[in-house]
Amino acid sequence: MHPRTHALPMLLAALALGTVVPATAGETRIPEAAIETAAGLRDRALAENPGYAIIEELTTVIGPRMPGTEADARAVEWAKQKFEALGFDRVTTVPVTFDVWLRGEERAEILGTVPQPLKITALGGSVATPAEGIEAEVVEFPNLQALADAPDGSLEGKIAYISNRMQRFRDGRGYGPAVAARSTGAVEAARKGAIGLLIRSISTAEHRFPHTGQMRYEDGVARIPAAALANPDADQLSRLIALGEPVSVRLMLETMTPGEYTSHNVIGDLIGREAPEEMVVIGAHLDSWDLGTGALDDGAGIGITFAAGHLIGQLPERPRRTVRVIAFAAEEIGLLGARAYAQHEATRVREHVIAAESDFGAGRIYALRSNAKDEAWGAIEQIGDVLRPLGIETERGVGGPGPDIIPLATRGVTWAQLAQDGTLYFDYHHTADDTLDKIDAGDIDQQVAAYAVFAWLAAEAEGDFGSAPPGSD
Ligand SMILES: [Zn+2]
Repeated sequence: MHPRTHALPMLLAALALGTVVPATAGETRIPEAAIETAAGLRDRALAENPGYAIIEELTTVIGPRMPGTEADARAVEWAKQKFEALGFDRVTTVPVTFDVWLRGEERAEILGTVPQPLKITALGGSVATPAEGIEAEVVEFPNLQALADAPDGSLEGKIAYISNRMQRFRDGRGYGPAVAARSTGAVEAARKGAIGLLIRSISTAEHRFPHTGQMRYEDGVARIPAAALANPDADQLSRLIALGEPVSVRLMLETMTPGEYTSHNVIGDLIGREAPEEMVVIGAHLDSWDLGTGALDDGAGIGITFAAGHLIGQLPERPRRTVRVIAFAAEEIGLLGARAYAQHEATRVREHVIAAESDFGAGRIYALRSNAKDEAWGAIEQIGDVLRPLGIETERGVGGPGPDIIPLATRGVTWAQLAQDGTLYFDYHHTADDTLDKIDAGDIDQQVAAYAVFAWLAAEAEGDFGSAPPGSD
């Protein structure tokens, strides 16, 4: 029988007696005193604005934070000092080793009777072209599948061009179907004999900033240079091709692979007063692409989660469990910091009680979601009750973990998602235009409040949130 079956008669009896409702056996509950403290945390976040200044400092003093650059090293030092300054009890690091990729010069132009320069940028991980560039006819495909369906050898000596358009949604669900063209387009193009790949940016914008992002190669398939076009340039190219005459492009990409580098995840802990080995994790990624200053992606998440931890640390007592804030390294090039963290914590995975990442820009949070077990859903709804005045609803059966939480979630750690309004996020994502001016300080306050409430209450909960069977990532 389901434990909730007993809840109504018990509630009626409790009301009649004027007593506190006891938790049903096995149910995770949050004590009333902790709920009151959470409401205070929420109101302080809105009054004190602790998050925006952290984002401003990170994007101004450190700037773009490409994995493996000197700015990466400065960012790691900055994060360590920031955790100390914000009053965290313990600051530790976990090493993350990877091959560095760097962007150099990049140019493209349409040749022939309507010559014109194109706004492009290399995809992360792309090989360079020869110094003089490549010149070839462009063959357009509406999406990755159409390219994959082209006959073998049909693109010998040509440049493949995938023109798919990302659709705009509040929850960003247009990204997944569109981004495959970026991730694996070069592999499909090379299989057909192409010598280069161009894509319409994975973007909802109509500005002339091309959007970068990681791509990958496959062993045994030729490695061809790959770049994204700004969307108006992509559309211009499509219109010229539609006229029916062959259209050729010259593409020059300079990229560098200087070798191996070791960066670090940086971890700030508020050590739990009763169950210090049990952890509630919140976090964001510290690295960014090189084109902008990584304000939306993911300076915002760093500011939000560092500030939330700071507010909890200002309370008169520590949370029951440890609240851990993680600044993940090298997310953009393949969740490398998150994978290293999950491996490092392999024997302590079960002590990660619940985990949430802020990595979806700076738009306000509209929903709390989780895959918490049935017996803990009442506690999730208790958290939701404190979040409701912030305009946040509790939603069940939807959503998923932030990218850096995936390696933990696949090992069975319960996730929570504070789902952000991503309507505008993909206008700026991975561009030179991802800068501080795109962030509204009031929106950051709302999110600091939400993360502080979530982390505090999850750490105070009596009982766990369940765990999924381990999978693989
Ligand atoms: Zn990100």
